[in-house]
Amino acid sequence: MDNNLRIQQLEDELSTAQARIEELENLNSATSVHTSKLSNHIDDLKESVIDNLHNPLLILDNELQIVFSNKKFQKTFHITARESEGKLIYDLPGEQWSIPQLRQVLETVLPSKASMSNFELEFPNAEEGTEHLTINASEIKLTGSNERYILLSIEDVTRRKFAQKSLKKREQQFHNLFYTSNAHIAVLSGPNHVIDMANDAIIQSWGKGPDVLGKPIIEVLPELEEQGFIDKMNAVYETGIPFRADEMPVKLMINGAEQQHFFDFSYQAQKNEEGEIVGIAAIANDVTKQGLLNDQIKKSELEFRGLVNMIPNKINLADAAGNTFFYNQSWLDFVGLAHDDFINRDWRNFVHPEDLYKMEREVERCLAFSTEFENEARMMDKNGEYKYHYIHSIPVKNDKGEITTWIGTSTEIQKLKEEEIKKEAFLKLVSHELKTPVTSIKGYVQLLQSMLPAEVDKGNSKVAVKPYLTRIENQIERLIRLISEMLDLSRIEQNELVLNLSEFNLNEHIKSVIEDLTYSVKDMQVKITNDDEALVIADKDRIGQVMINFITNALKYSPDSNKVNIRIFNDSEDTVAVTVQDFGIGIDKKEQYQIFKRFYRIAGNKDDTYDGFGIGLYLSNEIIEKHNGKIVVNSEPGAGSEFTFILPLNKA
Ligand code: ADP
Repeated sequence: MDNNLRIQQLEDELSTAQARIEELENLNSATSVHTSKLSNHIDDLKESVIDNLHNPLLILDNELQIVFSNKKFQKTFHITARESEGKLIYDLPGEQWSIPQLRQVLETVLPSKASMSNFELEFPNAEEGTEHLTINASEIKLTGSNERYILLSIEDVTRRKFAQKSLKKREQQFHNLFYTSNAHIAVLSGPNHVIDMANDAIIQSWGKGPDVLGKPIIEVLPELEEQGFIDKMNAVYETGIPFRADEMPVKLMINGAEQQHFFDFSYQAQKNEEGEIVGIAAIANDVTKQGLLNDQIKKSELEFRGLVNMIPNKINLADAAGNTFFYNQSWLDFVGLAHDDFINRDWRNFVHPEDLYKMEREVERCLAFSTEFENEARMMDKNGEYKYHYIHSIPVKNDKGEITTWIGTSTEIQKLKEEEIKKEAFLKLVSHELKTPVTSIKGYVQLLQSMLPAEVDKGNSKVAVKPYLTRIENQIERLIRLISEMLDLSRIEQNELVLNLSEFNLNEHIKSVIEDLTYSVKDMQVKITNDDEALVIADKDRIGQVMINFITNALKYSPDSNKVNIRIFNDSEDTVAVTVQDFGIGIDKKEQYQIFKRFYRIAGNKDDTYDGFGIGLYLSNEIIEKHNGKIVVNSEPGAGSEFTFILPLNKA
């Protein structure tokens, strides 16, 4: 082989080797780039892991100087990395960390122990009060180095502390609630109902002393068994279905003697975390007082029913709105119905149609004014026959003055009524028979008066004939009025009061009635005020009769005054009112309704002081009601009275 070829060969080999070296070098440099990138990644990763750790973290060097703080630390303690690094931990700004305890732990405890866990630290925080921190410290030794670092991980346990505190508080509250509650509470465990917990109230009510815990209930309260309570506990323990009872009578043996108690109570299954029944809780309220009272009430109710069913009077009880909820046996016998059947029927169906209107109005009035109810009405019996009854109802009120019940009694007065009807017929007859002779006596007296010679008239005669004749005339006048009132009374009773209607001017009519009255009534001072002119269609004589009744009463019941004021005015668009005002003795409020009843006269107004029969207002009221009007009384005892009648106007 020539040398040139050999050189060529070597040169080729060399360049191949160089290319290979280059290749290797390239490869090598690529690998080292890759490796350094990887190690950079791992550093980044570590840093971000440490930074993203939930807890604040510090790394201190041997001199306890900070070499690293994570972001959480910086954020939590409002500090930058710069501010912290190279500083002693207890020299951190704000002096928050200069806590002697911490210093001691770091400087003395740690070197000897190499780690320290859950060192608790209270850290004042202006915003949230005290923060609670726990610090865990451990030593880090680097391999192949003598350097020593300390890792401090800090945990904010303020919330946990708070939760622990409130848990403790709750426990305390529960404890207090359980042991001091008035409710009787016991927790029984297992199938034998062993007393696990029992509060003071229940222990006391059992009356078996304090030493009951850990014993089966049957051992402590054997008396419960025969009353069936152990069976009930067993059932709750087996089924989990709670048992509840209200005002349950329970007999307890206390100091060897049986005592009757009443409890509202429940047995409730107690379950463990797996949902298995492990016991029962008994919660009870002692309602013995109430139970005994209710027993008493039941007893007196039975007695009451026995009593009211025995008496012959008809008795009913109604609620505040007037709905009857109880009728006694006497009522049921009368109507021939069972209690509930009668309750469900409308009472109006049992009232005679002619008496119904008055009865309904009286009911309405009593309900509206909460006053006594009094009425006479014919009630239908089981044979469809009507019997007169006197019906009286009184309201029973509670402490607040609200009506709770109406107690009603109805007494049959059929016989009395028949007697009364006979008496009235007799009175009517007598009045009728009297009317003609008395009227003619009056005529003769007037004739005699007119026939008297003038000198007798002037009082020249030895006998005072004229004054006597005047007196006779006045007495006859009274007699005539009485007779016609008696006649009116029986007309009303027999529904025979017929109105003789005509249209007239009420103001003029009243004026002329008063003028007529001044002839027979001396010394009265009447003042008429005509606010409005009124045209009415009415019975002239009857309206006059009402006026005369009002005015004579006004004078009669005013011993110290003879003044009467009359006012005529439209009290509404469609009605006219006539008021007669006096300054007499007045009328008590509770009498103001009564005075319109037949023969009613106020007790205490001496009969010999004020004569009368108690018929006038009854008649007046009937007359005005027949005209579709009404009478209103306004009066104060001692201050006088105002009687007003109101009539519909004739607007046509
Ligand atoms: P009498 O006046 O004949 O007794 P009334 O039916 O006219 O009968 O009146 C019934 C009762 O009403 C009277 O007894 C009287 O007690 C009372 N009374 C009527 N008007 C007045 C009045 N103006 N002032 C006071 N009490 C009156």
